[in-house]
Amino acid sequence: MAAAGGWRPETTLPEIAFAGRSNVGKSSLINALVHRKKLARVSNTPGRTREINFFEVNGTFILADLPGYGYARVSKEAKAAWRPLIEGYLQQTPALRGVVLLLDARRPPTDDDLQMLDFLASLETPTLIVATKVDKLRAAERQSRIETLALEAGVDVEQVIPFSAVSGAGRDELAGAVAQLVGADRA
Ligand code: GDP
Repeated sequence: MAAAGGWRPETTLPEIAFAGRSNVGKSSLINALVHRKKLARVSNTPGRTREINFFEVNGTFILADLPGYGYARVSKEAKAAWRPLIEGYLQQTPALRGVVLLLDARRPPTDDDLQMLDFLASLETPTLIVATKVDKLRAAERQSRIETLALEAGVDVEQVIPFSAVSGAGRDELAGAVAQLVGADRA
């Protein structure tokens, strides 16, 4: 696997990739999902991680943590680097069962997000959309914002999982959906 800079597991386990732009809350979500505080680094220096990190979760699947993309302050070259790395990985991973794409619940998807959505649709890879940081939305506006986000992203609202690493909202639903993807070939 030429594209990956991190440890690449020698395994036949199914793989689930997590993608999103820098600072969307991916490290926090991964930590919440696997209940292991030290598994993924929580970073407030967006744009620094430029490799794919792999974690084996409970002996059942490989979690591939793709580099955060599209951070405004990184150089043009660094910006251009994420695309072949991420796209190459997604195209060349036969064990890939699905992708979890994180979008900030409070903001319209960026051009990079929309390009990623298009790319995933073209691969026909099962994709879960997670709307992150929903604790920052007032309860009364949450549902309508999620509906708008689904429209903006061009996905079915049923495909969007509202999530908060702070409150724990959506954690169990996401874990269940990931487990379904992992087991999808055995269903
Ligand atoms: P990453 O760059 O996508 O890995 O994002 P991080 O997980 O490092 O989070 C980026 C920033 O958003 C940090 O300051 C986190 O504390 C914050 N953050 C992440 N998840 C949440 C969340 O669910 N709610 C709130 N309020 N803040 C969050």
